[in-house]
Amino acid sequence: MSGTLPLFHENPYLKQLECRVDLLERDDAGLPFALLGETVFYPQGGGQLGDRGVLHIQGTKAGETLKRLEVIATKKRDDQIRHYLKVDDETFALLSEPKNAQQATATLDWSLRYHQMRVHSAMHLIHCMLEQTLGRSIQHPVRSPLSDDGGENQYEFVEEFDEDSLRQATDALNEFCSASHEIRTEADTSQGQGFRWWKCENWSIPCGGVHVRNTQEIGLVTSSMKIKKNTTRVVITLSAEAEELG
Ligand SMILES: [Zn+2]
Repeated sequence: MSGTLPLFHENPYLKQLECRVDLLERDDAGLPFALLGETVFYPQGGGQLGDRGVLHIQGTKAGETLKRLEVIATKKRDDQIRHYLKVDDETFALLSEPKNAQQATATLDWSLRYHQMRVHSAMHLIHCMLEQTLGRSIQHPVRSPLSDDGGENQYEFVEEFDEDSLRQATDALNEFCSASHEIRTEADTSQGQGFRWWKCENWSIPCGGVHVRNTQEIGLVTSSMKIKKNTTRVVITLSAEAEELG
């Protein structure tokens, strides 16, 4: 089966999609998932959570909804994107019949996704602002996991910067974001299949995630710092709802 066409890179603001259902299947652990011809659901990766949302399976009559299924997780496996479903066995068996479940409307949990786009973008930028504050480059974080609430850059070093530097960098970040700078991403196949850059002003960071298009959308950010064993963790939370510009 061919891979899933991802639409979230070219248009991270697309919230809903009419799509073909290629397959309803169970993974090795017996968990049910759907493969769609193309998708707006970002799969878990690069620290970002996999999207959640809803799949409305269409019936054979025009405009008829056969079932409403929750998408509880999205994960990538090779070049396929698996939309994990909350579905009972009976419904799964019904929908697995070839004549059923051919078309669906896929709808994102947009508040989760948009929050992830904002926090994740802020996490790239706080790294850039730390380098700017320190006047030198520092190693990129080895991990940048996000949760429903916020995120943290995990650096494999200690004592490269202190709380005062982070405070200055956070002030600079908030000033920079409010000044409305464009954020863009681009594919770079010279670096390998599927390789992408995140870019803002003169900064570029390798990243295949989803981001806001303008720094103003991030709003105000607060930060804190934790030292744990040999790692420095910069925790980022958003302190205000920003207005969507997309
Ligand atoms: Zn990114």
